[in-house]
Amino acid sequence: EAKAAGRGAYRSYNADTGARIAARSQLGLDMKEAVRRGDYRLVYQPVIDLKTGLVVSCEALMRWSHPTRGEVSPAEFIPLAEETGLIVPLGTWALREACREARNWPEGVKVAVNVSGVQLRRGGVEAAVLEALTLSGLPPQRLKLEVTESVLLDDGEAILESLHRLRQRGVAVALDDFGTGYSSLSYLRRFPFDKIKLDRAFIKDIADPDAAAIVRAVVGIGERLGMGIVAEGVETAEQLELVRQEGCQQVQGFFFSRPLPPKDMQSYLNAAYRSRGRPSVVAAE
Ligand code: C2E
Ligand code: MG
Ligand code: MG
Ligand code: MG
Repeated sequence: EAKAAGRGAYRSYNADTGARIAARSQLGLDMKEAVRRGDYRLVYQPVIDLKTGLVVSCEALMRWSHPTRGEVSPAEFIPLAEETGLIVPLGTWALREACREARNWPEGVKVAVNVSGVQLRRGGVEAAVLEALTLSGLPPQRLKLEVTESVLLDDGEAILESLHRLRQRGVAVALDDFGTGYSSLSYLRRFPFDKIKLDRAFIKDIADPDAAAIVRAVVGIGERLGMGIVAEGVETAEQLELVRQEGCQQVQGFFFSRPLPPKDMQSYLNAAYRSRGRPSVVAAE
């Protein structure tokens, strides 16, 4: 009896897993097809400097509308693209597209592009970045790459060298999602990041004095190392006030704006630019 139930459970577990694997590999195939069809697009979310109140950069975030499933979250399709290697051509496309779009923005507003550890380990990112800059005519000072600490693990020497070379040309490099995963403070000594993006988990809990203490400590470390802190995922006025109190200089989150399609981002930026009437201030970062 128990044995039979056990076998049944085993069988259904297997069938489940099999179905999941099949669905996932189908999604992988659909992703390839979507590259051919040009179904990916980028949306942009502003990062605001708290001293000036101005947009200093916009982060490009990838979106994919599946022909039958509708919008698929990047939290699902990016890891899959990393597994299949599709992230390499997709990442190259994102770099080109984002640099091209940023040419439409007020001078000095940077564009931030997420670069996966897989892209960096496979090589070719440096060439892809330089090509995107050349094709778009965007000055390197207006591009920022966002990398996660996984690029700093063990075999990262060649990666760090190519990031150093890009930085020497003026491209900024930010450490994304700081404080999650396996972060270690020692990583901060391995590369002169321009910005540290503090993961939104800390911002979500910032009303908690312990979370606030960590935010303040990271701000202090950033100051000593010459790295600015960006608070990710600011959703409420209260969170904004608290991250300001803890010394964060820049913020990003739904409180200011959700990620916007290119046209809407352009009007958002142009409105901010017009109301200031002083375009050069927009460049402050
Ligand atoms: P990320 O780079 O840390 O991007 C920030 C994520 O936080 C975005 O999720 C954004 O929509 C979300 N977010 C921003 N403000 C708020 C807020 O106030 N509240 C909440 N709850 N969320 C907020 P998204 O667009 O779903 O992207 C998820 C992740 O997928 C990104 O995290 C990044 O790791 C990856 N990703 C997205 N686009 C690309 C890409 O073009 N290339 C690569 N390699 N990865 C990408
Ligand atoms: Mg990012
Ligand atoms: Mg992040
Ligand atoms: Mg993230």
